[in-house]
Amino acid sequence: MARNERAALFPGSFDPFTKGHKSIVDQGLSLFDRIVIGVGANTEKKGLLTIENRIKLIGDIYSGNPAVEVQSYDGLTGDFCREQGLGFILRGMRNTVDYEYERGIMLVNQTLFPEITTVLLFTPPEYVAISSSTIRELISFGRDPIQLMPDNIDLKNYL
Ligand code: ADP
Repeated sequence: MARNERAALFPGSFDPFTKGHKSIVDQGLSLFDRIVIGVGANTEKKGLLTIENRIKLIGDIYSGNPAVEVQSYDGLTGDFCREQGLGFILRGMRNTVDYEYERGIMLVNQTLFPEITTVLLFTPPEYVAISSSTIRELISFGRDPIQLMPDNIDLKNYL
């Protein structure tokens, strides 16, 4: 870690990474020198994409940007931040449900990892209705969720 570097982990399931997730990373880049997108491998719910393909999709979006990297991790998010020398956890918030959920996680992390600061950013209004679960549902009904995916990403290439 470079001295005085501000580096954040953006943790999540990212199954798949959406336009909404990208909006949080893009905003985060105005605050942080470096963002590691951490694909949590241990909290796998009913997965659409394999962990490898989630990583590949995110890597394809940010291949030209050295300030963003993607890694998978298992174990506690705070332990991964410590291992990687990341001082901040970045999360996105669409609504009050997200707020309560994120605050719960933040309070536990604050107790266990007091040196790590959680930063919550608001989702821009055009992305508040986007969720990975909606995309998974559209796929299950044979629809292409192209409007919800980051530009130039064809989800079919990662299924
Ligand atoms: P998790 O299962 O850990 O909640 P997600 O992949 O669903 O992982 O979300 C990762 C982060 O991105 C969370 O902070 C979540 O609130 C945020 N997020 C999810 N969807 C959006 C969206 N449409 N706009 C902005 N942030 C979002």
